[in-house]
Amino acid sequence: MKDIKTVDIIVPCYNEEQNIEAFYRRTRQVEESLEGCSFSYIFVDDGSTDGTLETIKKLCQEAVERVVSIKYISFSRNFGKEAAMYAGIRASAGSSGDLAVIIDADLQHPPEMIGNMLGIMEETGCDCVAARRVSRKGEPKIRSLLARGFYKIMNRYSDISIADGAVDFRLMKKAMVKAIASMPETQRFSKGIFAWVGFDTEWIEFENVKRLSGESKWTVWGLTKYAVDGFIDFADYPLKVLGAFGGVTAAGSALYLVFEIIKTLVMGKDTPGYASTICLILFFGGVIIAMLGLLGEYIGRMYLETKGRPVYVEKESNIDD
Ligand code: UDP
Ligand code: MG
Repeated sequence: MKDIKTVDIIVPCYNEEQNIEAFYRRTRQVEESLEGCSFSYIFVDDGSTDGTLETIKKLCQEAVERVVSIKYISFSRNFGKEAAMYAGIRASAGSSGDLAVIIDADLQHPPEMIGNMLGIMEETGCDCVAARRVSRKGEPKIRSLLARGFYKIMNRYSDISIADGAVDFRLMKKAMVKAIASMPETQRFSKGIFAWVGFDTEWIEFENVKRLSGESKWTVWGLTKYAVDGFIDFADYPLKVLGAFGGVTAAGSALYLVFEIIKTLVMGKDTPGYASTICLILFFGGVIIAMLGLLGEYIGRMYLETKGRPVYVEKESNIDD
């Protein structure tokens, strides 16, 4: 007889009252259709202001009768999806499950794919099967455009590479879950963290689906900030460019100085023009301010990181550790 594999289903939820039940029913169906597999649910309520937590608790009560394991963690406020995923990952790392899946509550990540992911993992023996969107249908044009640009820059200039269209939907073996749980950084960018921890990853493609109910929580501004944060988290390239630029400028001005001295000695003094001087002052003033701003981005992150604040604050949970 084959061993029964237990899979922790990690679901970050923020104001998903309308979706959670449908999500749970559909995922249960998937579970029932899979042989030799049992799911254990970890719902993370990311400080929802609607009935999300009540819905989860209702499912918990029902689950007790059906011998399904549902765990939940509820935050004291909204900490963001990154924090919610981290809480779920930590809970899974400390659980008895063999594997873990991170999946959205809005059914944009079809739970049926978990079956395919398990199949691929079995076949190839890989450590992780991750989903990649092949279309961005039903998504604002501007968002697709920004996302494309982001992946290009990220892959070219940072320490890690991320597949275009990679989403947070993935199946992982315990070792990978533990590796991610052991990364306590407070400014988290999971797509980068997944790539950084390594492990053999297979990709599975899927078409974009519209969310079941409600709106995406992302605004264009929020996404842009997320992208810049993600880049800075994994790249020191901008700092290197800064250094190189400073070096080149210093060398250039030294050469210019030598040129001026020789010119004065050979041809005598001429009337200096103030326009070019002002231009140079303004130019370098601007460059220096921009450099300081960029340095500030890194220093600001160090400042936040050294405070050692927790990634999230738990208000209640049914996991006893
Ligand atoms: N989410 C969360 N905290 C947040 C925002 C989102 O836990 O602050 C959850 C949300 O409930 C959903 C998933 O993250 O399960 C994806 O969110 P959303 O659908 O808004 O993002 P999109 O699918 O547009 O990337
Ligand atoms: Mg969504």
